[in-house]
Amino acid sequence: MSHKIDIAVAKGDGIGPEIMDAVLRIFEADGVPFNYHYVEMGKSIFDKGFQTGMTDEAKETVEKLGVLYKGPMETPKGKGVKSINVTARKVWSTYANVRRFKTIPGVNTVFSQAGIPINMTILRENIEDTYGGIEFMHTNDVALTYRLISRPGSEQFFRYCFEYTKSEGFTKLACAHKANIMKLTDGMYLNTFYEVAKDYPEIEVEDFIIDDLAMKLVRIPDKFQVVACTNLQGDIVSDLCAGLVGGLGFAPSANIGDNICIFEAVHGTAPDIAGKHVANPSALLMSGLMLLRHFGLHAHADRIENAWLFTLENEMFTADCAVDKSKALNTPQFTDAIINHLGKEPKKPISTVGGKSVAKNRNLGEVTENRLSFTETKEEVKVVGGDFFVWHNGQPEEVVDKVLSILPTDLEIVMISNRGTQVYPTKSVFTDLVNHHRVRIATKDESDMGYKRLYELAAQLSEVVTVVNLETLKHFGENKGYSLAQGQ
Ligand code: NAD
Repeated sequence: MSHKIDIAVAKGDGIGPEIMDAVLRIFEADGVPFNYHYVEMGKSIFDKGFQTGMTDEAKETVEKLGVLYKGPMETPKGKGVKSINVTARKVWSTYANVRRFKTIPGVNTVFSQAGIPINMTILRENIEDTYGGIEFMHTNDVALTYRLISRPGSEQFFRYCFEYTKSEGFTKLACAHKANIMKLTDGMYLNTFYEVAKDYPEIEVEDFIIDDLAMKLVRIPDKFQVVACTNLQGDIVSDLCAGLVGGLGFAPSANIGDNICIFEAVHGTAPDIAGKHVANPSALLMSGLMLLRHFGLHAHADRIENAWLFTLENEMFTADCAVDKSKALNTPQFTDAIINHLGKEPKKPISTVGGKSVAKNRNLGEVTENRLSFTETKEEVKVVGGDFFVWHNGQPEEVVDKVLSILPTDLEIVMISNRGTQVYPTKSVFTDLVNHHRVRIATKDESDMGYKRLYELAAQLSEVVTVVNLETLKHFGENKGYSLAQGQ
């Protein structure tokens, strides 16, 4: 008796239904043993008033089945709602985003023409960074984003990166970062990379500052195997890599979590071509191949991938990549061509039969509590002061006078910065200012003033200046838990 695998499917918005129908038709033609549970997510659900972009039934179904195969979804602009795509990845803790980029036969790029093969995976941390979406207007002119990076989040992500590198038969893993500038966030991220690396001595590791990496990816893409990136940097770099192999039409992705996984294309809803049945289903199909292999359905994945490659080798393309647009196939014609080619072999056939399935035998019903991860602090934690963010339409010296008028004698103004550059006690008159001053106040002897006194100080300062935010300055043993200002 054949056993079918239950998966949740959301067709998505724009070109979503057209390309999802195409892929499911190919799966059906190859007898893929999936049982589809269609769920309601996306624009129409936002329009019905569901703030999360999904119905309660959709949430329940995905949480019961553990796998969602989704088409692209539109985030309504200017309504204040969060992106359904980002929400789904975050709510279900799909902490690693896998984006694989390979030279595709028949798809002409600068590199394919030069005979330089590309086979590279960008692993993008999927939960943290600016994608927390924690943003505030501090003044009428100045907005703030919190960029949160956590040690447990980084560790969880890097463990997956090393496991992926190993299981896919790669030997090198690179870590991309900007730790030279963001010493605490990316610094902790990078240190965690090298900590986790100690458990994988067989994998060759290196790290790159993200801008240097961007240049090298364009110059020598064939030298990279797997690259781990923070969320936003990974988003940008993976689009760059999509460009190296022929564009977004060929960029699949898998969002991997311990309980729930989401498979989708990297591209969006392509509103400019929606409803015209000309979209390229390749990226969604390629994420579908990742989904098949996730469940160990390697024979199906190989047969479909070979049929797809054979189709491309025979110069059958959709309009986005056809050199001669008059010969471009529409979505149904391209889909039929792949179906007709099932069983055919391209010049270099894919064979992953016997490959490892990454699907775990989970019982999702047993998950009853949120997993909480943290490290015990070994060092003494002291609150030595605070950074008070002040909205003031004037020079920093005016802020100093006001603050000094009420400041207790055991505390001092260490510095004031404007957009991160020190403007008090020393400054350059050439530093342009905005109406947002960060006033660093600390105990003169670096003693612990405690949270309560710090917040009372904020209340006292609010009598003389407009305090719009407060960050605590903490010492963890010998280590300062804050950065210095530029020029400090
Ligand atoms: P987009 O990826 O939808 O389109 C960019 C360009 O690429 C367009 O010219 C489009 O026609 C083309 N394109 C994209 N996919 C294609 C395909 N399969 N075949 C042929 N051409 C294709 O990006 P956008 O226009 O910036 O975004 C449109 C909407 O999609 C927005 O609402 C955005 O929020 C959403 N979006 C969703 C996802 C997702 O669901 N994961 C990802 C990105 C963007």
